[in-house]
This record gives sequence, structure tokens and C-alpha cells, in this order.
Amino acid sequence: MLVTQATLPPFEKYVSKIKGIWDNYWLTNQGVLHQEFMQLLKARFNWSEVTLCVNGHMALDIAIKALGLTGEVITTPFTFVSTTNALILNNLTPVFCDINPRDYTIDADLVESLITERTSAIMAVHVYGFPCEVEKLEKIARKHNLKLIFDAAHVFGVEYKNRSIADFGDISMFSFHATKIFNSIEGGALVYKDKSLVNKLDVIKNFGICDAEHVSDVGLNAKMNEFQAAMGICNLDELDDQIASRGVLAEIYRKRLSAVPGIILPEKNNNVTRENNAYFPILVKEDEFGMDRNKLFDILAEQNIGARKYFYPLTCDTAAIRDKYAAAQIPVARWVSERVLTLPIYGKLPVEVVEEICDIIERASKLYAEKC
Ligand SMILES: *Cc1c(COP(=O)(O)O)cnc(C)c1O
Repeated sequence: MLVTQATLPPFEKYVSKIKGIWDNYWLTNQGVLHQEFMQLLKARFNWSEVTLCVNGHMALDIAIKALGLTGEVITTPFTFVSTTNALILNNLTPVFCDINPRDYTIDADLVESLITERTSAIMAVHVYGFPCEVEKLEKIARKHNLKLIFDAAHVFGVEYKNRSIADFGDISMFSFHATKIFNSIEGGALVYKDKSLVNKLDVIKNFGICDAEHVSDVGLNAKMNEFQAAMGICNLDELDDQIASRGVLAEIYRKRLSAVPGIILPEKNNNVTRENNAYFPILVKEDEFGMDRNKLFDILAEQNIGARKYFYPLTCDTAAIRDKYAAAQIPVARWVSERVLTLPIYGKLPVEVVEEICDIIERASKLYAEKC
């Protein structure tokens, strides 16, 4: 039992979608399926502009290049390593901001104190499916003339005050990786409103080539191919079911685990008018629960339950970079990272398994109660 399971459309549906590729021999580079997928996304979520990419990380990378970021970028260490790597590989300095204890997104109230003359942007992450404090961040970005980029890898389908979560900030990056709530095998998309970015992003994602004889940018290869687009088109039909079943499972987890001493659940945000339950994180408080996160992780693993320590370690603490940037004041992120465990959740996960996982966690805590 892994933490997630990739969504697949019916086999025949995918096969019939890719059949045309054998007629036109067009496998990648803005093919018809690429076009169809892009239009479908725009129509479904009411998005103005969409740029499809080979994966989420490359989407983030070309967004940074197209926006021309320089110097320092205020970001969160409580994320997948991709967010931080994208900054560093573009010669930017990540300035790590702490997170809030309610839903583990960047603490918007701390961002302003980290702004310097070198700051060009804020790169925030909507973790687990929980939106950042988007309005506060937009206000800060506007006031200080900073770009606001959202790593929206976890929030596909999420709505905030009845608006798509991608309506906020200058640009949002979605990941369509196999492990995400929606996938195009690998894949990613940038969503934004500024029409002047469309051509720029298309050029950068194709080596910087602007026409057959001209190269205007030092670009790279970040193009989505036709097989990916076909998977995306087919999987879009699965999204509502996927979100609905996750909602049911999350409710069971929430109901049962909120009663367990020492298990902390993220706070519900009433501004979220459509949630996706991409992940189900819990925090384990050792003093009340009776054992620490790592011990509970081991107990679950013994029963073949593959929970994950997302996000541990923090990206600023990895061997790759821990000595390279100024020591960050991030007590909440450290506290959460040492206690967090994400439990299995995906559309086809049987209700009984969720109940069983709750049983195991309850028993683990009772074990403690009896010992006292
Ligand atoms: C998955 C993920 C990415 C990277 O997306 P890929 O499509 O795997 O390249 C970036 N940021 C976060 C928070 C992610 O979860």
C-alpha cells in the first residue's frame, strides 16, 4: 500500500486517443493533441493562458527565465526539492521564510521582513492541496513590485473563494506527474494572464528558437509530447471522481484521527470552496501520542502501509545546499518537518484500508495509554 497510485483512464480510451499519431507521424512539438489538451484546460478552468511542459520542474524553470528574476527570491523550505532547485539552477538566492502552523504554507506575515534591495520575487508553494494566503501575498508583491510565482504542483482542481487557485499571482505551475492527483504521465503547465508571456515561454521551452533561422534566447527543451497530451486529455475525465473519492477518504481520516491524542490535523480553510485532498498530512506529537513520527512510520511500514515523510528534510537542510545559504529562521517549518507524516490517499484506495490505517494509529496510541 503506497502513499498514492497513479490514475489511469480506460485502456481502450487511451489507445483510441493516440491512434491518430500513427496517421500523421507527429509525435511532439505543438501537435494536435497538445493543442486539444491546452484548449480543454482553458475551457474547463476558465484559464486565460496555458503553456504545457514536459514536466512541472521544467515549467517552473522556464517561468523563472521568462519573468527574468534576479538576485533573491523569498520562498519556503517546506516543499519538494524541485522548488528550491529551480531557483538555484537559475543563479538565484533562495531566502527561506517560515511557514504557518495552520496549513504549512509560507507565513505571509513574515515575508515583508525578508525583502531586501536584491529581492525580485516571491515563490510560494500551495502544499498538500492547501492554498497559500494568496490575497496577503498579492498585496505584498504589488506594494514592493515583486513577481509572485506559485508552485501549484499540489493544487490541481482547487478553488479559493469560488475562483481557480491559478487566478492568483503572476504565474502558477502545475505538475502532472504520475504521482499527482492528475497526470499526463509526466507533464506540467504554467497558467497566467499576461499574453506577452505566451510567445516568450513557447520560445524558451523550444531551445530559444523563435523561427527556423533565429535563436532569440538561451532556451532549453521543455516541450510536452503527444503521448503525454493524450494521457492528460483522457485523465481529465477522471478528475471529478478522483476528487470525490479522496474527499470521502479524507473525511474518514479526519473524523477518526481528530479523536486520537497527539495527532494534529491541518486546519480547515473556509475560503477553499473546492478542495482536492491531494495529500493527507498528520503531525505526531510524541509527548501526547506516546511515540514519535519515525516510530509510527515504522509501525505502519511493518503493516505494509507506505506513509511518507513529506517534507522531511526541509530543502534548506539537504546535504546539497545546507552550508551555502544564510541560516534561516524557520522554527515552525523545522517543528512540522520533524513530526509530519502523509498517509496513503488516492481514488481507488478502499475505505476499509483507510479504516485499518486508523485502527493501527489508534492502537499505537492506546499502547501508550496502557503503558502509562
Ligand atoms: C511534484 C512537484 C514538483 C515537480 O513536478 P514534476 O512534474 O515532478 O517535475 C515541484 N514542486 C512540488 C511541490 C511538487 O510536489
